[in-house]
Amino acid sequence: MQEKLHMNQHPGIDPPPFHTIVKEICDEGIHLEQTYCYPRGGGQPGDTGTIFSTDHSSEFGEATSGEYILHPMEEPSVFSIGDEVTCNIDSDRRNRNTRMHTAQHIFSALANEIYGAETVGNQISDGYTRIDLWFPDRDQFDVEEISEAVNSAIRSNAEVSIHEWDRQTILSHEKMRHTKFMDRIPSSIEYLRVVEIEDIDLCPCGGTHVSNTSDISDITITNSRSKGAGKLRITYE
Ligand SMILES: [Zn+2]
Repeated sequence: MQEKLHMNQHPGIDPPPFHTIVKEICDEGIHLEQTYCYPRGGGQPGDTGTIFSTDHSSEFGEATSGEYILHPMEEPSVFSIGDEVTCNIDSDRRNRNTRMHTAQHIFSALANEIYGAETVGNQISDGYTRIDLWFPDRDQFDVEEISEAVNSAIRSNAEVSIHEWDRQTILSHEKMRHTKFMDRIPSSIEYLRVVEIEDIDLCPCGGTHVSNTSDISDITITNSRSKGAGKLRITYE
């Protein structure tokens, strides 16, 4: 599996251009020797951008995960294996997704704290996020209450930091959230990246995050509807 270098870049906003070499060309796009692009996953859309060589340039669509991260493009054959290239990640899109994703940590953490709710799904789209939550008692959910709690957490200028912790430390930490998915990560990986939003959230995550919640603006809940027994789908901007 190709190393996901976006994980080494924190904060995850304004990613700088990077230089690398074309490693492989396939029908759908190209693989790069190294890439800092975020590949779609965990409800967060992948990066898009432009790749340049001396003679050619091509925009690429949403990067996706796999053995190697794919940069999908219409005519990958404009490049050759071994070409030296520069990759510009679309910063506006990345910054928007990073802010949305960090806000989702806060929303999920507070829904858990206030209602004992568990986040069972989430998806960031252009300009809005939806979260599926399961509640022990769904009637307790209150749009105004959660909005106020999330926005006051956002306005608390909380630091967002990244740790590399071993599984035991993660699983035995009393404040750790969202560890169920760890079963799916190969046991050969002992250390995992943990994201901490000071006094608000602590959980393992491979997404992109702001360095301080002051980089995020307030959320507005636009919809909340039933998604089956005990579940609600909440949409916010
Ligand atoms: Zn995250």
